[in-house]
Amino acid sequence: MPGTLYLVPTPIGNLGDISLRMKQTLECCDFIAAEDTRVTLKLLNHLSLKKPMAAYYRHNKEAGGQAILARLLGGESCALVTDAGTPAISDPGEELVALCAAHDIPVISIPGPCALTVALSASGLPTGRFTFEGFLAMNKKNRRIHLDSLQSEERTMIFYEAPHKLPATLADLLVAFGPDRRISICRELTKLHEEILRTTLGEAAAHFSDHTPRGEFVLILEGGSAPHEEAPSEEEALEAVAQLLGEGLSPKDAIRKTAEQYGLSKNKLYDIYIKNN
Ligand code: SAM
Repeated sequence: MPGTLYLVPTPIGNLGDISLRMKQTLECCDFIAAEDTRVTLKLLNHLSLKKPMAAYYRHNKEAGGQAILARLLGGESCALVTDAGTPAISDPGEELVALCAAHDIPVISIPGPCALTVALSASGLPTGRFTFEGFLAMNKKNRRIHLDSLQSEERTMIFYEAPHKLPATLADLLVAFGPDRRISICRELTKLHEEILRTTLGEAAAHFSDHTPRGEFVLILEGGSAPHEEAPSEEEALEAVAQLLGEGLSPKDAIRKTAEQYGLSKNKLYDIYIKNN
């Protein structure tokens, strides 16, 4: 029987966010696959745990993934951790989970810290529908293609960004979405200097042009508004009334139904109808 892959989130800045289940999973698994074993060793020391570790990071994910897969197929259980936050979310793990799924190896995801949900929930922007966009590409062309694809996005958008790239990213977002678009800039979440700046793209770009960004950032950007449906012309509304009259409706019912269908005022449509008949 194969072992289980556990996805274990780790704190994004506050060790108080270590959960009982997170600790128990690290304690009970056969080995830990870690993005950076030195970072994870500090966490294990904090928890007074000792556990064999294997490295699994962006540049060894092919060979590292195969080695972990072989151990899982051999019956060992593995806890995957990254340096901070939830594995597989802009972090190593996605391919390993796909590999496990393809080999019918059980994958259990332990809930825990994730920068995007911490930021979104406190952003003050709509949370009902959102899209996670990760990091924008460094390559100018790919970045432009990515931003162009979001031009008519109505959902709240979430971006990760490194501090030294923040001013350039805000400048690009300003060009793409205009100065009035609302943005919540979430900095150093769960840490001592946690801060949420709820502002507009115009103000944010100006602010960071003379304040050097420090720390880690999540950007929550308001979605665009849905294009307003054009109000029908008088002619179109009268044509709709005429069609309903042709179907045998009374003028009163035809006007009421058309007004409802097009979101018009019944009285106004009645006046237009009288004027034209
Ligand atoms: N998998 C991680 C997660 O789920 O939170 C994200 C890893 S990604 C490589 C790192 C990015 O997450 C940072 O560049 C930053 O955008 C965001 N991030 C991580 N910790 C953060 C924090 N404490 N405050 C704000 N953003 C954070």
